[in-house]
Amino acid sequence: MPHTAIYLDHNASSPLLPEARSALLAGLELVGNPSSVHGHGRALHELIERGRDAVAQLAGAERQQVVFTGSATEAIHQAIVGGVRALRLDGVVVSAGEHPAVLKAAELSGAPVTTLPLDAAGRVSLGALSEQLAAADTTGTTLLVAIQAVNNETGVCQDLVALAALVGPTRHYLFIDAVQAFGKLPMEFASNAADMMAISGHKIGAPVGVGALLMKAPCDEVRLLQGGGHEQGRRAGTQSAALIAAFGAAAAAFPAHYAAERQRGLLAQLEASLHEMAPDIVIFGAGATRVGNVVNFAVPGLRASVAMMGLDLLGLSVSSGSACSSGKVGPSHVLEAMGVSPELAECALRVSLGWSSTGTDVTAFLSGFGVVLGRRRRQVKAA
Ligand code: PLP
Repeated sequence: MPHTAIYLDHNASSPLLPEARSALLAGLELVGNPSSVHGHGRALHELIERGRDAVAQLAGAERQQVVFTGSATEAIHQAIVGGVRALRLDGVVVSAGEHPAVLKAAELSGAPVTTLPLDAAGRVSLGALSEQLAAADTTGTTLLVAIQAVNNETGVCQDLVALAALVGPTRHYLFIDAVQAFGKLPMEFASNAADMMAISGHKIGAPVGVGALLMKAPCDEVRLLQGGGHEQGRRAGTQSAALIAAFGAAAAAFPAHYAAERQRGLLAQLEASLHEMAPDIVIFGAGATRVGNVVNFAVPGLRASVAMMGLDLLGLSVSSGSACSSGKVGPSHVLEAMGVSPELAECALRVSLGWSSTGTDVTAFLSGFGVVLGRRRRQVKAA
């Protein structure tokens, strides 16, 4: 098994930031339960509250709006399954490109689910959303609109301003899956129209196992896990002060490490070289605004399974589609919703950069991809 030298799969999970590692290790040294009133408990409680401050700051949220969870998947289930129950909602509206966590939670909520189509560039049809809202108004029903800020497979950004303008002034609720946007795009949760937002620690260099649901006052009764009064009764289960401290440390350190402009520059360099190497390349979501750290592309005839195996042997870790759906047979539901043919979708490779990515990583990927592409071209010639 070769040592994997180059990691270009940050959308699946980002490496631990040094600041998060230190905070995690320091937190693990502490003893006790953060709910205990003695000194040991208070020290853990303080760590959690400092973590809350840092996460709130990066999200543009007020500290009391942050509810820590074990993952974004859990936060999404709280928002959707718990939201339908607590707010007595009549339906959930999702887009066809949502993460499986959102699609599954909508299904589990028991409420009728409406799916909005994507256009060829991966943007959610806001026209279809308007129609849904208008139809709900005629029947007096209340909906939860659950849309992602940035797609994990393609990096396509949804128009949150237009979405907010549509849903904000109505009685319907807006939930944003902000997992792939957090730290990369401004969030301003406190002042935007979203009622709830889900974020995840491990996409910004915190350890896996911690996320948060940002909640505004009208959603304060939205619950999933119930038991003790943790997180002001909004998420029961003893908090991991070490994980939350590491999440806070990552939130404080991420913007400087990530340097959005540097990522954009690296990605632009990567895409320009790919175009030169394979003029028939298709970049998915090219017609839309994209977040700037991920490219999902296909070279017709070069199957992703073959390309990934070749790249892996060269020590290059990338992904085909999303990490959550790889391992599963069949093309990506996101690309399918964008009207990509199954044959082309089978060739889709996702390269995602992050805080640790360098120009050397990009050059190494391009050289490895050149090898894989050359092999494929020789095979085609010989056939
Ligand atoms: N939503 C999106 C858009 C994601 O990319 C992911 C993870 O890949 C999730 C939700 C789930 O996050 P977590 O791994 O914290 O459960």
